[in-house]
Amino acid sequence: MLEVFATYKNSLLFPDQVEGASADMPLDRFSFILDFLISCGYDCCVLTGNEVLRHPELNDFLLVAERKKMSIIIETSGFPNGKINEIASRHKIAIKWKIYHPTVYRQGQYEQLLGNLDIVTKRYKIFTEAVIVVHDLSLDYSFIADFIREQSVNNLYLDILCKAFDRRKEEQLNRLQKINSNFFVLIKQAFEEGIKTTIGCVNVPCGFSDSEFGALIKMGTMMKKCLPYPGVLPDLKVYHCRALINESERNLASFKNWEGLLEYFFKRYGEIQVKTLFFEQCESCLSRRAEVCFGGCLLLKTKSKR
Ligand code: SF4
Repeated sequence: MLEVFATYKNSLLFPDQVEGASADMPLDRFSFILDFLISCGYDCCVLTGNEVLRHPELNDFLLVAERKKMSIIIETSGFPNGKINEIASRHKIAIKWKIYHPTVYRQGQYEQLLGNLDIVTKRYKIFTEAVIVVHDLSLDYSFIADFIREQSVNNLYLDILCKAFDRRKEEQLNRLQKINSNFFVLIKQAFEEGIKTTIGCVNVPCGFSDSEFGALIKMGTMMKKCLPYPGVLPDLKVYHCRALINESERNLASFKNWEGLLEYFFKRYGEIQVKTLFFEQCESCLSRRAEVCFGGCLLLKTKSKR
């Protein structure tokens, strides 16, 4: 599914913020993107940005999408406070709600966020996926246990940012395995509460023990592979995935269809994807041979190659 990165404006300095100074995406470009997707047979896209709630024409974007019968998933931090509740009361949307470690928020903001999330899921019954954004592998994420117990979200998405890793590969793997065994307990808790979890593509099967990995599969936990998850910037340039957003080059208008877009990314990054290994044990790893894993995140492999 394409994500539309409509604005660099932000609400707070969150750890996954993207640097960029260009203007907000205008309405006619958004309309063009929707037409492109419709011509490719799609009826849904993700609308995002550093904080898409700060896009001045968000309401008009949603009206255009409604006219074209496109479903919109809004990805948001939930700030400015209360704005998403206002949007949810007016439009038929789904939400990817990003939850950061509580230390990232200013005093009282995390509690505000939980209050708003409660309104959206209980009063407006909006389909909501809580995206747990992990920017530091040394932090304690046990707060998610209370979050799962108290909130009525539909899905959980575990999103470890590339910035949580550095080049000391083996040490990072140990740290990942440690934090993943805590996440495993939380994923099990979520499963028991009827919430399915998806694990983002920066995580890797070897980040879990064999027994954990087997149990994850039994619970139907989806583990995303490192593949193109394309997005488009306000100037219509496309990127492979959020991690590689700073490497956008080509304009969406130069592609005939979705297959052409994917082919471009496979050609551009294919060699690094296949030949570069992030961890030493990737060389002989069965997950890699069976294509369950392509050997870690493309951005990390690109960086370790440089
Ligand atoms: S291919 Fe590499 S990153 Fe993927 S599971 Fe195997 S060892 Fe881990």
